[in-house]
Amino acid sequence: MKKKRVAILGSTGSIGLNTLDVIRRYPDRFEVTLLTARNNVTVLREQIKEFSPRKVALSGDKISQLRGCGLPSSRFFDVENDLSGLVSGKDVDVVVIAMTGAAALKPFLSAVKAGKAVAPANKEALVMAGDIIMAAARKSGARIIPVDSEQSAIFQCLEGQRRCDLAKVHLTASGGPLWNIPSARYDNLTVADVLRHPRWSMGAKITVDSATLMNKGLEVIEAQRLFGLTTEQVHVVIHPQAIIHSMVEYGDGSIMAQLGVTDMRIPIQYALTYPERLSTAMKGLDLVGLGALTFLKPDMKRFPALALAYHVSREGGTVPAVLNAADEVAVEAFLLKKIKFLSIVRIVEKVVKAHEKVGMPSLEDIQRADVWARAKALALIKG
Ligand code: MG
Repeated sequence: MKKKRVAILGSTGSIGLNTLDVIRRYPDRFEVTLLTARNNVTVLREQIKEFSPRKVALSGDKISQLRGCGLPSSRFFDVENDLSGLVSGKDVDVVVIAMTGAAALKPFLSAVKAGKAVAPANKEALVMAGDIIMAAARKSGARIIPVDSEQSAIFQCLEGQRRCDLAKVHLTASGGPLWNIPSARYDNLTVADVLRHPRWSMGAKITVDSATLMNKGLEVIEAQRLFGLTTEQVHVVIHPQAIIHSMVEYGDGSIMAQLGVTDMRIPIQYALTYPERLSTAMKGLDLVGLGALTFLKPDMKRFPALALAYHVSREGGTVPAVLNAADEVAVEAFLLKKIKFLSIVRIVEKVVKAHEKVGMPSLEDIQRADVWARAKALALIKG
């Protein structure tokens, strides 16, 4: 069997580590050809030793720190400038987009245009430019198999069904780390309070987004773009056990659901081996032990980010890119203790309201909106 050659963008983060763990289990099926990271030289060095990638990209000023790790210097590349060229190379079959943030947009689009299989865990690129990415995928025939657990669930529930029979999707949300904390306390929450997620262990940005429910809001927009749905077809339901990862409802009233333990290695492995389902080292679900699954209506007043994201999804054009950029800046300011928790969404909302939308935007329009929104959010934070 010919090995699948895998590029992992963001190999030292949570999704990257889990992807390498899947690959570690099936060395006869996969070969790592590209690893990229920004700053985590220590972890990257270990990964290079274990997986012997053909190429590595990281921040230009860190490259010298990887000397002597066994890879000649001609195999090192600059993560800021070289990713788009690297992912479209002949030695890549699958691109796992494990890096967070808007920086993933260019390499994502480049991989899609080159007709690679793309497994995105990153939602920012699809939120910013989902229509452009999906149009490019239709043109090149690139297959996009999402890794984000909710989108993976929807993808799986659509398999073998006719798309025209789909009525709506139900995105499940665990409720995040604040679900059981009274909203009167939200203004005094510390970074540590917010980073304590009850179900999923993830990076800092996405955990803060789970606390505001902005993560779910971004997923509403992501699902809409990925699966060609209207905003009204995407519903959110709070499901604290996080066992059902999302559902698809069909015209006849039947609902298909994908269930599983909360471990990202399952959707990652599925995206890498699709359409095969190989065994994992994980214990299956203990249905009897679980006893019951519960569902609740999301409280849009307590979590205004969700209402804002629905508004943004309907608006379309450059507005989702503005939402995404303002959120990245505001979350970073919160993590650096420059603003309070409740200010995150307030700032994002102000930036979205101040933006003059461009409908049917080009990639340049989207990038311009992204830059504008970051500057606007920073100005509001400083003010
Ligand atoms: Mg998710």
